[in-house]
This record gives sequence, structure tokens and C-alpha cells, in this order.
Amino acid sequence: MPSPKPKATRHPLKNTRAFQQALVRWFENEGKNYPWRDTADPWAILVSEIMLQQTQIATVLGKGHYLRFMALYPTPRDMAEATEQEILKVWEGLGYYRRARNLHAAARAITRDHQGNFPRKFEQIRALPGIGQYTAGAVASFAYNDPQPIVDANVARVFSRLFDFQERIDTTAGTKQLWQWAEQLLPDKSPRDYNSALMELGQTFCSNKSPDCTNCPVKSFCHCADPTPLPLKKAATQVTRVDEFAVFATDSHGRILLQQQQEGKRRAGMWSLPRRDHEHTLDLALSLKTTYAITRYHVTLRVYTSHADQTEAQDLEEWHSLDSIGSLPMPSPDRRALESLLA
Ligand code: SF4
Repeated sequence: MPSPKPKATRHPLKNTRAFQQALVRWFENEGKNYPWRDTADPWAILVSEIMLQQTQIATVLGKGHYLRFMALYPTPRDMAEATEQEILKVWEGLGYYRRARNLHAAARAITRDHQGNFPRKFEQIRALPGIGQYTAGAVASFAYNDPQPIVDANVARVFSRLFDFQERIDTTAGTKQLWQWAEQLLPDKSPRDYNSALMELGQTFCSNKSPDCTNCPVKSFCHCADPTPLPLKKAATQVTRVDEFAVFATDSHGRILLQQQQEGKRRAGMWSLPRRDHEHTLDLALSLKTTYAITRYHVTLRVYTSHADQTEAQDLEEWHSLDSIGSLPMPSPDRRALESLLA
């Protein structure tokens, strides 16, 4: 049985200095060392922030995405000069490809409007395409040690619990309150370490499902009686089940038919196995059935083997040789399905 949560003896807003010190002291002794914490390069920090928006650290680092990306595009200018197809290919496996397109647009804006030099001021960073309040604050504080408040999902969870916030955080008033606390608690000295510590507290002790309050470095400031229901949010969107039917069509030259996603679609520019209506697949042999999740959708993908005379190329579809397929950007579910079919 988990130990009862320790009672607060101090308040973060009344003992702000002590709160900051407790947090930063813990971080200095036990904070994790990631490549983006080992640098003051704002570009390297921006790339990490964008990658980590919807992807776990274990994937970003463990599968080599971050280091590979930085080796290919060590400066905004390097990324600005790459084509969108090259970037989507490098981003493959991280998902949420809009992030890659936004980062590309930011790299181009830095190259065009700032002569390739990363902007120094918070307002200039915030004005880059695809950069919101949180990301601009994170880059300004982590790279330049500017006193900019940040609120991401981890910080929101920590604040909700510290202040026993019994309001929903996904409302205008709830969000405003979180940013106000972030400003009130922010130290002038070492905002970089403080912001890093706050985020790491949310990733470690103050985790979503099993907060470790007994060992938490700021437990004496934390006013909630039971952290697990916090933060309050509107009920999670229900998962929607979707069926997709795709063809694995080959022609007499051994080429494979692929479909490029249109502009404006979530996976614009990526190549995938051509999707068809269920009716088209009725006379074809089912070769593979797999499932994947994307946002609130749970997708069952069925792939049917076909030949050129049964499946003609439609708009945005082309025949590709096996050699060329490896260099095309492709969503992970399609890449896995194709590799399995070819094996
Ligand atoms: S782990 Fe979170 S909920 Fe628990 S004491 Fe620390 S800040 Fe509060």
C-alpha cells in the first residue's frame, strides 16, 4: 500500500526562495544529463523541444533520432537548405510530421530574416513559425538563461498538485492561472536550472500515475491531499475505431505502387501504400492485417496483394523501384507493413 502523502508545512508563494532552492538543489545533484542540457546552442535546444512535444525522451534519444538529426542539420541554415522530402525522411519514426514542417519553416525564417543567426530576444523567437509561448520560453531560458516562465504538461501537473488546484487546467482561466504561478515562482537567478528542474520533477517524482511524494524534494510545499486525480481536465476524447484498406500492388518490372499524401493532410508529402475502398479489395488476397494508433484513432490496416492489371495508378500515385523506396519518407505503420510484405 502506498505511503500517505506528507502534509505541506510551507507555501510556494510565501516561501518562494526556499521552494526554488529546494528544487534547484535537488536538480543540481540528481538532474539527468541530456544532450540538449549540455549545450547553450538555441538551435539544438529548439530541435529537442519540437521533437519532445509528442514523443518520449526514450524514443528521441534511444532510437538516435535527435543525434542523427543534429549531425545532418547542425544549424538552421543546414536544415533550410534541405528539401521537405529529405526532412520528412529524417523525421520518419517520430510521427506528427507537422512538427518537421514547422521546424523547417522556422529554419528558413532564421536563415532569411536573421542571416542564419538564431534570434536573441524572446519576442523574435516567439515570432518564428510554429513556435508557441512555451517553446519560446523554453529556448530563451535554456539557451540564454533568460527569466521566462514555462508551462508544459509536466509543469501543469506539478502546479496543479502543489496548489491543490481544483479547477480544470484546459480552460482559459485554468491556463491563465498556471502561467501566473509560473511567473510568480520564477527566480531571476538561474532560471535555466529552475525551469529544467520543474520539468524534470514532473517527469520523475510527480509523474501522472504514480507520484512518489515520500521522496519528492518539494513535498513540504505541496498542498494537495491526493495527487492522483490532478490535474483536472475535461474527459478524454473517446477512441474512434477506423478500418483502412490498402493494396500492395506490383507491376511486371517489380515496382511497387505508392501514394503520396496531399498538401493539407496530416502526412502531406509522405508516401504510403495506396488506400482503396473496401469494394476494391473484395477480390484480392489479404496479405497482412495490422493495427496502429494515431491521436484518437485506433486504425486496423488491411493490406491486399494486387497486380498492375488489377490496380491502376490514381492521382498522386506512382510506381517505385525497390531501390528507391528506402529513401522515400513513409509513415511508420506503412514502412513496417511494407517491410513485412517484402520479407
Ligand atoms: S510528487 Fe508531486 S504531488 Fe507529490 S509531493 Fe511532489 S509535487 Fe506534490
